[in-house]
Amino acid sequence: INWYPGHMKKTKESMKRSLPLIDIIYEVLDARVPISSKNPDVDNIIGNKPRLIILNKADLSNEIANKEWERFFLNKGIPTIFVNSLTGSGLNQIVNKSNTLIKDKMNKLKDKGIKNRPIRAMILGVPNVGKSTLINNLSGRKGAKTGNKPGVTKGNQWIKIKGNLELLDTPGILWPKLDNEELALNLAFTGAIKDELLDIEDLAFKLLEKLIKLCPVLIEKRYNIIVRNHSTYEIMESIAMNRGCILKGGEIDYTRISNTIIDDFRKGRIGKITLELP
Ligand code: GDP
Repeated sequence: INWYPGHMKKTKESMKRSLPLIDIIYEVLDARVPISSKNPDVDNIIGNKPRLIILNKADLSNEIANKEWERFFLNKGIPTIFVNSLTGSGLNQIVNKSNTLIKDKMNKLKDKGIKNRPIRAMILGVPNVGKSTLINNLSGRKGAKTGNKPGVTKGNQWIKIKGNLELLDTPGILWPKLDNEELALNLAFTGAIKDELLDIEDLAFKLLEKLIKLCPVLIEKRYNIIVRNHSTYEIMESIAMNRGCILKGGEIDYTRISNTIIDDFRKGRIGKITLELP
């Protein structure tokens, strides 16, 4: 998706129109990069609507970092849950937490004689955080029916999920913050930005540089090398040698080793790694 100002404005307006129908917002973030995968304007758009932050891909994030993020968002008054939308792990908490969060509103409705109205929820998030996977898992539906178009499409349907919850079938797709290089790189590392737009060797070098600082021991273990007192360049070379990424003339095959490192990170083979802390 290419975002431009007109696009963003339209999306914002269409979301604001849907808001009155919604009891609770599920803001989906990537647990490895909770800030980089957060839309900068979401707080403005949803105002003080009850919200649950769903930190997805928790199968790939660090557990200690998860605790820190949980505390960080709770300090802002927003509860979080960590989930793996692929397996469904953690998803059962969504129903419970939603019920708790909008209990007062439901009680007021009850006082007015409106009983058992379903709780209506909407999923928001930037591309690739796992919105469609989450919707599919919650609804038990197989094929991904997702608009790859920003905003909320017309003629929305409600999907019944357990616990008297109804979910808008089309997620609100918001734009990421690409003007900040560090945040944009984090998104690129996680695969949220298309690889064709980036130089793969450059990306792998920057990722390795970051991982050496963040979790040197995990790098040493994965690639059977020593990190201390070596430059990123030397480390990259050692990894390539160990992996036999050598071209015919004896030169290092940087393209191949770059792809290996990036793929290892994205699949969680280096370890459970969170790239940013509060
Ligand atoms: P959307 O653009 O927000 O709708 O994201 P998708 O649902 O299309 O997911 C983007 C990618 O992330 C897909 O390759 C999914 O298989 C993957 N994915 C989604 N949720 C998880 C998760 O919890 N763990 C892992 N490891 N991958 C996930």
